[in-house]
Order: sequence, then C-alpha cells, then structure tokens
Amino acid sequence: MSAGSLKDRLFERIGNARDDLVALTRDLIRIPTVNPPGDAYTDACEFIGRRLASRGFAVEYLRAEGGVGDSDRYPRTNVVARIEGKSPGATVHFNSHIDVVTPGEGWTMDPFAAEIRDGKIYGRGTCDMKGGLAASMIAAEALIADWPGFPGAIEISGTVDEETGGYAGVAWLAERGYFSQPRVDYVIIPEPLHKDCVCLGHRGVWWAEIEVKGRIAHGSMPFLGTSAVRGMAAFLDKIERELYPRLNQRRTAMPVIPEGARFSTLNFNSIHGGLAEGQDGFPAALVADSCRLVLDRRYLIEESQAEVRQEITDLLEAVSHERPDFSYEMRDLWSVDPVMTDEESPLVRALDGGIEQVLGKPSRHIASPGTYDQKHVRRIGHLKDCVAYGPGILDLAHQPDEYIGIDDMVQSAQVMAAATVDLLTGETSNA
Ligand SMILES: [Zn+2]
Repeated sequence: MSAGSLKDRLFERIGNARDDLVALTRDLIRIPTVNPPGDAYTDACEFIGRRLASRGFAVEYLRAEGGVGDSDRYPRTNVVARIEGKSPGATVHFNSHIDVVTPGEGWTMDPFAAEIRDGKIYGRGTCDMKGGLAASMIAAEALIADWPGFPGAIEISGTVDEETGGYAGVAWLAERGYFSQPRVDYVIIPEPLHKDCVCLGHRGVWWAEIEVKGRIAHGSMPFLGTSAVRGMAAFLDKIERELYPRLNQRRTAMPVIPEGARFSTLNFNSIHGGLAEGQDGFPAALVADSCRLVLDRRYLIEESQAEVRQEITDLLEAVSHERPDFSYEMRDLWSVDPVMTDEESPLVRALDGGIEQVLGKPSRHIASPGTYDQKHVRRIGHLKDCVAYGPGILDLAHQPDEYIGIDDMVQSAQVMAAATVDLLTGETSNA
C-alpha cells in the first residue's frame, strides 16, 4: 500500500471520528486538573491510560514522588503510553501537559462543563491544551487501526505542571530517559500554536530579584538615612534611558510570534519597598531600608544569558558610581536558554508535508514568545527533533471563555497522522 492511499484512508477515518474526538475532549475538560495546586492529575492520567490500553498501548503511570509540588494530597502523576510496531523503526512521541491554569474571572459559562457552541468547545484547557491531546490520541488510534503493520513505535504522554515549569512532569521523565534516544526519536507537543504553523522553539528567560539596600531612619529626617526606594528609582531610570532603547533595537532572526516578541523584552514583574504591603493603620515614619524588584527578561537566541545578566550588573555598577551610598544584591531566580529546532529537521518537514496535504497551503514556521516543555526535551533529553504543533489559537490560552474549534482539531489530527506516517517510514529523514 502506498503512503498516499494510506494517508487518504487516515484522513477519512479521522474525519469520521469527529464525534469521538469531541466526546474525548469534553471528557478531558470535565476533569478539572487545575494547577496550582495540581488537582485530579491521577484521574486524568487514568482516564487517558484506560483508553489507550484498550487500543493496545502499554501504559505506565509515573508519579514524580518527592518531586517539586508532589504530595499525597496532590500527587504528580504522569502517564506514558507506548505501542510497538511490527518492525524496527523510529519512535514518534506526542507529549501534552494535562494541567490547566485556574479559570479566573470573566467566564460567561461553566469553565468545566465543556459546552459546545457554533462548532467550538468551550472550557478551561480546551485550547491549552486538552484539544491538542485529544487530537493526537485520535490521530494515533486511527493510524494503528488503518496500518496494523506500522514500523517503529508511537508514544503518547500526559504530563503535569507545564504551567509551573514542568519539573515534576517532562523534566522528571526526561531525567529518567523518557525523552532521549534510543527510546524516542521525534517529539511533537500539541500546544495551541495554530493548525497551519510549526513552532520550532522559544526565546530564553532570565528572572532575577534585585534588592537595593538602604539605611533606616526617622521619616521626618530622611537625610539621616539612605532611602532604598530612591536608589531603586535611580536604577529604574537608568534602565528606562539606557537599556530599553537598546533592547528595542535587537531583533531576532527567530520567527517569534507575535511580531512584538521578536525583540528582546524586559518586564518588571513586581516591586516593593518600605512599609509592608497590605498593612493597615497608621504608617510608621521610616526611611525604606530595602526595595526589591523582580525582573523578567526574555532574550533572543542571538544573546547569551551571561551577556544579559552582565548588562543588568553594569547598570547597577554605574548607579553605584553615581551614588556612593547605593548598595544592592542580585539573586538569580530562574532561567531557561532559548531553543530552536532546525527547519531542515525531518520532523519539521514531515509536519510541513502534512499541513500542505490537509490544509492545501504551505506551513508557517514560528517560535513562541514564552517557554514550554520543549526546553526539558532539548536540555535534559538532548533530543533535537522536538517541536510544538497543535490546534488552537495561542491568544486564547489562559483567557476567560477559552475554546477550541472542532474543525481545527480534526484537521490537526489529520496533519499529525500524516506526519507520523512519514516519520515512521523514514520518508523525510534522508534528503
Ligand atoms: Zn500549554
């Protein structure tokens, strides 16, 4: 049988599985895996595991015992399902996070009822990313049904805590070899990055806390102390005048969306100095002896983390020269290097081919402004062939009235199935 007629059969089977795909997505939405705290992870994993076991997958439940956030009340349970083909070959892995962010305010319907309106399913996690998870399950099930003699292996995982860094999820599994060769060759993460786009990677992140230290004194005689707030203001002024204009000049060659995120960015996450926040009553007359700032710097593949850090240190040192009583401490909070998969990777080309066949137009290559679990696959698993591809509109993630389009899910599942055929047959691997 030719790959072409196989794909046609798959497209038809997936088109016919539309109701099943909708039901599966709704069932997943109704399991409220809100993170934090990490509710109902085991229920979600068992639901996924039971279904895939009934299709012939070998299912493992892996609790990240003692991992970040793990407790008996909120166990960090992951599920990894694998089905072996009839002959040796590549392994294609679909990884989805099962956690969703809190619904928040502003919903016009129950965020966990999975209501259907005008061809869309509404609910927290529909777009980010249970719709993508369901699409990958339907794609794999169709492939197994239509091509019982497939070579290689297919894996599907549901992992925890992506929304809070993924340490008890993909990172924990990657440390145990679940995202490395020889076990796995290609990883597709069905995050909501548009059905016609292949997401190659993401920008880097550096979070740091800067504390400016002052000297306490009576508020009526501030000249007897040193105000940490004034010191911080001087630093912020330097950033405003010197750093922002420089960042606005730095444009990456990475295809980051939206357009504004192609530049280096810096966000002040929070700032606090002086009187304790939320304190009621009469304020004590004091000079602030401490002011803390948390900054969130997103950097480009053309920049190094060391340079990005140095740039901030240089500004702090410059303020020190201008203000003899200025003193500070800087603490690194969290960092992730940028990652980008080669556009010539067989994985990217297989998805390009699928998008072209299903949607009748060329794919777009993009990169994400923020990080996702690809970082752990690349850094810990040392696997280069990893991208995000899935249905849904990125802007809807984490919003009230989040939804996923049913047609988009069906088409994405068809693209995933077509790409998997090419990857398992090695059609795109040796150009
Ligand atoms: Zn997500």
